[in-house]
Amino acid sequence: MIDLKDVTKVYNTVVLDRLSLHVDRGEFLFVTGKSGSGKSTLIRLLTMETAATEGQILVDGRDLSKIKKREIPVYRRSLGIVFQDMKLLEDRTVFENLAFVREVIYGRRRDTSQRVASMLSFLGLSTLHKRYPQQLSGGEKQKIVLARALMNDPAILLADEPTGNLDPGASAEVMDLFELVHRRGMTVLVATHDLAQAGRLRHRRVELAGGDVL
Ligand code: ADP
Ligand code: MG
Repeated sequence: MIDLKDVTKVYNTVVLDRLSLHVDRGEFLFVTGKSGSGKSTLIRLLTMETAATEGQILVDGRDLSKIKKREIPVYRRSLGIVFQDMKLLEDRTVFENLAFVREVIYGRRRDTSQRVASMLSFLGLSTLHKRYPQQLSGGEKQKIVLARALMNDPAILLADEPTGNLDPGASAEVMDLFELVHRRGMTVLVATHDLAQAGRLRHRRVELAGGDVL
């Protein structure tokens, strides 16, 4: 599903150094490592926010170096992306925030409300549907950000420090939703420095250090 072959990324210094990594379809992988070890860089390579200096990256069989700049937005829509502190639209309810991401792509459709309702229900978030973002706790916000990331049926879910600003209880609740989504068959890659969360769920972990996996 995700294949990195000898991927090197150089900014001012070498961040990733001939990194090879394979993630199977349906797998849940944690990428850990100290601050500065390249976790976010790895995620940004996969979202095509930046390009590898050397090496090959395949996502769902597609060689990212073959994707043209103008095709990047379309490619990104095949991914579910969750970052720390992602913004919701403050002047719209939870329901409208989720409906919005589908309407941007598909236009107004009769099934949008149904889709939003079933996503909220699946994640156990139905009671939040009329709330505005400022009426949500940090953990609830991240759950809605996750729900939003799933609205377009991505093939892969990528997350960079999705529990970055949350206390342990809220972090566990958010990660439990990632687990729920994974059990439905989603390929999930979570970059986190939070070893407590990475350890709590029993999935494969790779640690980045010195530009490579330990
Ligand atoms: P992590 O997410 O594991 O903390 P990052 O991938 O954010 O690590 O950063 C890895 C290294 O790459 C750091 O030394 C950081 O300073 C450097 N880096 C990240 N992004 C850039 C950039 N856009 N320009 C220059 N250096 C960068
Ligand atoms: Mg980071």
